[in-house]
Amino acid sequence: MSQQKDLSRRGFLLGTGAAALALSSVVAGCSAPSASAGAGEVNAGKGTIPEAWDEEYDIVIVGAGGAGCAAAYGAAKAGGGVLVIDSQSSSQSSSTALCGGYTYFVNSPLQQEQGIEDSIDLFVSDTLAYGQSCKEEVLRTYGEHCNEYYALVTDELGLQWTGSVNQSPGCSVPRTLVCDPAEHQRLIAEAALAQGAEIRYQTTGRRLFSDGNRVVCGILAEEDSGRELRIKAKKAVILATGGITHNPEMIEECMPGASQIPAHSCVGHTGIMHNASMEIGCQMYGRPWIYATEAKYPGYTSMDQYAELYIYGAVEVNLTGDRYIDESIYWCNERTRALLKQPTDPVDGICTWEILDQTAYDLALAAGPPIGLQESTVELLVSADNYEELGEKILSPNLAATMAKYNDDVARVGYDTVFGRETMLGVGTGPVAPLVTPPFYAFKNAPHFDYNPATSFYVDEQCRALNSFDEPIERLYQVGEIMLRSVIGNHYQYGLATGAGGTLGLYCGGLTAELDNWDA
Ligand SMILES: Cc1cc2nc3c(=O)[nH]c(=O)nc-3n(C[C@H](O)[C@H](O)[C@H](O)COP(=O)(O)OP(=O)(O)OC[C@H]3O[C@@H](n4cnc5c(N)ncnc54)[C@H](O)[C@@H]3O)c2cc1C
Repeated sequence: MSQQKDLSRRGFLLGTGAAALALSSVVAGCSAPSASAGAGEVNAGKGTIPEAWDEEYDIVIVGAGGAGCAAAYGAAKAGGGVLVIDSQSSSQSSSTALCGGYTYFVNSPLQQEQGIEDSIDLFVSDTLAYGQSCKEEVLRTYGEHCNEYYALVTDELGLQWTGSVNQSPGCSVPRTLVCDPAEHQRLIAEAALAQGAEIRYQTTGRRLFSDGNRVVCGILAEEDSGRELRIKAKKAVILATGGITHNPEMIEECMPGASQIPAHSCVGHTGIMHNASMEIGCQMYGRPWIYATEAKYPGYTSMDQYAELYIYGAVEVNLTGDRYIDESIYWCNERTRALLKQPTDPVDGICTWEILDQTAYDLALAAGPPIGLQESTVELLVSADNYEELGEKILSPNLAATMAKYNDDVARVGYDTVFGRETMLGVGTGPVAPLVTPPFYAFKNAPHFDYNPATSFYVDEQCRALNSFDEPIERLYQVGEIMLRSVIGNHYQYGLATGAGGTLGLYCGGLTAELDNWDA
């Protein structure tokens, strides 16, 4: 707690003229002034603090999506005075509300009911092997606390889980449950309010205030009206602002050419607080691992136009009817880079076709929404009795030859010899089967940026933001997509974004409420 004492000794922010003057003279004696201090702010060595605060709370949370509301609930329940701000007009604009509803738990009561044997050690070893660059200590925090979040949303708030437990790529056992995402977000936002947290919309977090030791003490926010607010956080600031999908410059810097891929995430994912985090010493890792997600019909407006058919054995071909990737590697940087090199459609831009036979169709239909086929996606399929006819219908001249080679390989040697596909979707999924049972189908597939789980910040086991020397930045916490790399590393297991957002948000919120006030 020595840094907390440092902070209060410096007499941060008292609001009155005399006190502010006293503060100015203390901090003015620190090292070189910050270049970023603006009007009404005081240079404080490496940090910048205001001459006066407009408001003060124990804990200030930026972002009222799944992770931010879970943090608000946890902090308010533990006795903290909490303000959550969000740039949008409702938490229903968040990615948590818009998502597919897949939510990941380890050793959950539903897994136990279905006889699935799981453990934190198995989860950690699966995820380290698949993700490569995750933080083991963060995985353990997640594994140890995820059933607290499960109990909150399921038993206390009444969230319903539908269907069976799903197996994501990279998992040796099924772990992922499915819920109505808008309902999930509604319940956790209402629960945070009921605990006494305040949620204020149309208010954007812009910068972080910190003292000369980079101990974070508040934020600069801006209301939609243009009014600026300097909000003091006596215990902590928690950033839960999602990803960078709506920041084309950042996307382009990670992968040249990728900004042409549309984003279907929360429009608030602008990366403003990523910049604020970097300004204070955090480093955004995993830029070379950024990737787009797939499986949406061009012009997508809702999950009614979504089908991940390669999970059920479909192959993916480009517009000329040629394969270009091992479909079982699932979405990743390598796959998106390959996609960007394919021919584009004059109307739909970058897009490909998922090709399946009747057997794969039946598997996808049995799985149902959101990943498999449903009535609304069946209507979007192009079908034919043979691959020549299907190729003509989708204007892909090489389709028949591509499918003949794939089917011959798989029947003869059990795998595809061109790109090396052996399984439906990697570890723990079944071997590929030839696609030879008519009729045959094609689903048009456009890539999009839904999230950037592999490209974000590292935190420690308490979700404290880390600087580039792996040291915690005092009183700055990050939860949700903004730190998801700490959990998933280079490869994403589906459901971990919302599962880890809720779990680590709840856990971190509770921790911050226990901190001493720096101005005590
Ligand atoms: C179409 C789609 C399908 C998906 N499917 C799944 C799935 O099935 N399972 C899964 O685990 N993940 C899925 N994801 C990813 C997942 O939804 C997100 O990674 C996760 O919900 C992020 O949670 P969060 O709380 O970090 O962000 P959000 O829930 O988006 O909340 C962040 C909030 O911060 C606000 N904000 C951002 N910047 C600022 C700022 N500067 N000031 C104030 N407010 C700000 C935003 O407006 C937003 O409300 C999907 C995403 C999409 C878009």
